Order: sequence, then structure tokens, then C-alpha cells
Amino acid sequence: MYKGIAASDGIGIGKVVIIKEKSLSYTSYTPKSIEQELIRFEQAVTDFTDKTMAMAERIKNQIGQKESEILEGQILMISDPMVCSEIEKSIKSDKCSEEAVSTVCDTFIQMFLGIEDEMMKQRASDIGDIKTRLLEILLGVEVADISAVAPGTILIAKDLTPSMTAGIIKENVVGIITEVGGKTSHSAILARALEIPAVLSVANITSLCKDGEELVVDGFDGCVIDNLTDSIKLQYSEKQHAYIEYKKALSTYVGKKTVTADGLEVELFGNIGKPEDAVTVTACDGEGVGLFRTEFLFMDKSTMPSEKEQFEAYKKAVIALKGGTVIIRTLDVGGDKEIPYLDLGKEDNPFLGYRAIRVCLQREDVFKPQLRALLRASAFGDIRIMVPMVTCVDEIRSVKKLVKEYMLELDGESISYNKDIKIGVMIETPAAVSIADILAKEVDFFSIGTNDLTQYTMAVDRGNAKVAYLYSAYNPAVLRSIKHVIECGKKASIPVGMCGESAADKALIPLLISFGLDEFSVSPSSILATRKVISEVSKEAADKLAQEVMKLETAKEIAELLNK
Ligand code: PEP
Ligand code: MG
Repeated sequence: MYKGIAASDGIGIGKVVIIKEKSLSYTSYTPKSIEQELIRFEQAVTDFTDKTMAMAERIKNQIGQKESEILEGQILMISDPMVCSEIEKSIKSDKCSEEAVSTVCDTFIQMFLGIEDEMMKQRASDIGDIKTRLLEILLGVEVADISAVAPGTILIAKDLTPSMTAGIIKENVVGIITEVGGKTSHSAILARALEIPAVLSVANITSLCKDGEELVVDGFDGCVIDNLTDSIKLQYSEKQHAYIEYKKALSTYVGKKTVTADGLEVELFGNIGKPEDAVTVTACDGEGVGLFRTEFLFMDKSTMPSEKEQFEAYKKAVIALKGGTVIIRTLDVGGDKEIPYLDLGKEDNPFLGYRAIRVCLQREDVFKPQLRALLRASAFGDIRIMVPMVTCVDEIRSVKKLVKEYMLELDGESISYNKDIKIGVMIETPAAVSIADILAKEVDFFSIGTNDLTQYTMAVDRGNAKVAYLYSAYNPAVLRSIKHVIECGKKASIPVGMCGESAADKALIPLLISFGLDEFSVSPSSILATRKVISEVSKEAADKLAQEVMKLETAKEIAELLNK
């Protein structure tokens, strides 16, 4: 058995096809004519662009618009004047196209890898894909045709690049295994979109397996099972069957209201990072967006998105929701999210430092365009503004003052916006929990961010493996906080939602129903599963369970009871 990262749910049982990397070695030479070499490079780019457009079109038809944009992004990258002119500069200094492409792409790859950010790592992997395909074109190397694999194939590759994915015929590929990539890599996103079980980052898997070997890909536990006996095969095909049945059962919840077994209705929203994801929320039958993490609009670029760009993005999201609510969080930068061009400086304790609303209130150049863009987009639907990382009431009062000021500005410019736009706070610090009664008088809604609330309540860095045993929302300290916040919201008659990962925790949902949570916001892929769990719980049973749970003293006891 080999261990890796579980990247796409499901069980695949099939025969291995290893996608071997073709040799792209070349001998450098000095071109006879620089003009001719520049034309050769240009032709390679045109060829690359044509092929990539065709792949994007195939992905659009087979998977969807959003996924095809990954490949369209590669076309944008290679047409970026900075990348092209660097390669041309290199050719002009007597390098052949192969060498120019390799060295320039490698420089960009190193630059992106040097930034500690998942998105930048992805960018590096895209440039790697571009480099390989440009070299294939320049060297005339024939590329493996993934679309020709037989039904029941498990694809194994060092990395499954977006261009390879374009060739996958969903019906023929039952599993994907790679040596690199994580949960948020493009290969993972595409595997999930294709609903093919995938395990990524399995060390040396391309040399450990043989073509034709039979394997199981367990996309739940992130492992690959070899040496299959009849009983192992039977065990996994039962698991596979149960999952197929479960997915069928979930589809019966499409178009239904989110309501408990005894008739209590709640709202079920999706979390997004880009305006295009709003379409996914509706496709997954979400009723609105409970958290739009706007930092992705900022992280995706090398300069700050303008007011206009942000306005377009927020408008696009709210229009996609067709009348549904879209809760947009103001910029949450700092902590583990760095945006180099904002120049926030290095800190010893970034999670306790210059982060989120603390940055925004001191940086008019950042906050003003965002608030104006949000106000302008509110003319197109139910946009709500949500402020992260609040610790004291002054912060929210300052935000409200700024919103009023920008409303007057927009009035002066005859630009329309929603005069009653709702403003809420994320409850994700112990301070916000303690003053929830005070905050509730100031805002229109709460949304509990359990990812940070658990981190700050337990004083445990959410990314530190050594103390990960403490990072659980089942701790009585966290559960009491959640209960208290919902009670404060109820007293002030404002709705309370939850947009942290706990909102999709099947074991926790009954407790949240008992506490009176009004809105659950989960990742789009968890929407139907969350609706299913809610519909199977009755408020009465949930109340009984909550009474028992809240008497317990440890996270372990609570986890045991909730998982029973
Ligand atoms: C949270 O803290 O629960 C949350 C939803 O915000 P993020 O994960 O983006 O910090
Ligand atoms: Mg947070």
C-alpha cells in the first residue's frame, strides 16, 4: 500500500497506465539567423495557443467553463509581454528557442516557488506545463494520447497537468495517481470536477508500479492498494458501490428546501473565492453565498485589483446567484495570507498582528476601493458586507462610518447602490465572542468563523502539526463560544450563520441546529451532503443530544458522543 494525499473522493479499481515523461533533452546551439529563430519561437507559441484553445474547449464541454479557464490562463501567461519579451531577449542574445524557453520559464518557476503561497506554487506548476509543451512543439516530440486509454484505466503520472486532463475521457479513467500536487492543485480541482477518485503526492509511484498492474485508488483515505486479493477487491468494490448509492441519494436533495425532519427551515449557502465559483454554488444547489473570500481577487494578481475590477467581480457573483444573498468578506490579508505588493512587512506573530480589518482600517488605498466596489455592486442584488477578525466594537463603528462616507460620495457621483446594505461581522476571536452582545447591537448579522475561532480560542496555530491535537471545534471552550454567540444573536434578533469548516461537519450539525444556527455556509461540494444531514435531524432530538454534549468535559468525550 502507498500513502498520498486524498484529493478526489471515490474508489477506483482498475489497470495501470503510466504516462511516461518523454525526453525533452536538446543540445544548445547558436541560431544561424536571429530573425528566423524569433519566427520559429513565434510559430511555436501560435501552435501552443491553438492546441491549448482546443483543449480548453474540450474541457469546457466535458467539465465546465470554470475548469477550462485554467487552460485559458496558460494562454494568458505565455502571451504576457514580460514572459514573451524575456524569451525574445534571450534569443536575441544568440540562444536557440529551446534554451531561451527553458531558462526563462525556470526563472519564473523559481520566482513563484520562492513565495510561500499555494496559489503561487500553482502558478509555478502552470509555467512548468507551458515549458514542457513548448519544448515538445519545438523538438517535435510526440505526446501520449490519454484519450486513447481503455475503459477501467488508472492513470499514473508524475504530475497530471491541465493539458493532460483535457484528453481524459471520463468514462474510461477510474482513478488518478500522481507524484506531486496537493488538495488545491489544478490536478486535484480537475479530478474532482471530473468525479474521478484521485490520490496525489505518492512518492515515486511512477517507478513503483507497472503498466497493466491492477490497483485500488482510495480517494477517501488517500491510499493506493496493490497486491490485490479477491477479498480486498470485494471489500473495495462494496465501498465503491456504497459511495455510488450515497451520491444517488444526495441527488434527491436537489431543489429541496433545507429543513429539519420536524420542519425547521435554515439557510444553506456556499463559500467561494472567485466570482466564477458563484456559478458552482448554484450548480450545487446552494441558496446563496455565505462567504466570498475576496483575498483571492488580490492574490491572483501582481498589483491591487482596481475598484472597477472588484465591482465587476462582485457584480458577477451576485448576478450568478439570481436573487440569492451574497455575503462578501472584506479583505482578510495577513496571518498566513501574504500579498507581496501590499508591502505589509514581516512579523514575528502574523496571526496576532497586522491582519484583516486591522490592515483595512489603516490602508485607505486598499479599503476605499473595496467598499466603494461593494456598494456599487449592491445595486445589482443582495450583497452584504462582512468584516473579518473583529475584536472590538470600535472597528465595526469605523467601518460603518466609512461606508456612510462613501455612500455620500456615490450620491454626489449619481451612482446607485443599496442604501440598506447589510453589514455583519465574522465572529472568529474570543474577544468578539465575549462582546457578542455589544456587537449584536451594531450589526445586521453574525457569521461564526470556526477555523479561526478554534485557533484563537485554543491558542493553537491552525497550521502547526505539533499542536494539531488541540485544534478541534469539539473542545468545550469552542462549543460554549458558539452557543453563546448564537444566543446573543437571537436576543438581538439578528441572524447567525457559520462559514468555517465546522458548518459542514456531519457530527456537529445536530448540535448547531439545537443551538439555533440560522445559516450554514459550506464548500459547494458539501452543500447537498449538509442538506441531507440537516433533513435527517429533528430539533427535538438535537436538543436532547445538545443537553448531553454540553455536560461533557473533554473534546474526546464529545467527539465520541457526536459520532455515535
Ligand atoms: C474562519 O476563520 O472560519 C473562516 C471561514 O475564515 P478563513 O478560513 O478564511 O480564515
Ligand atoms: Mg478566518
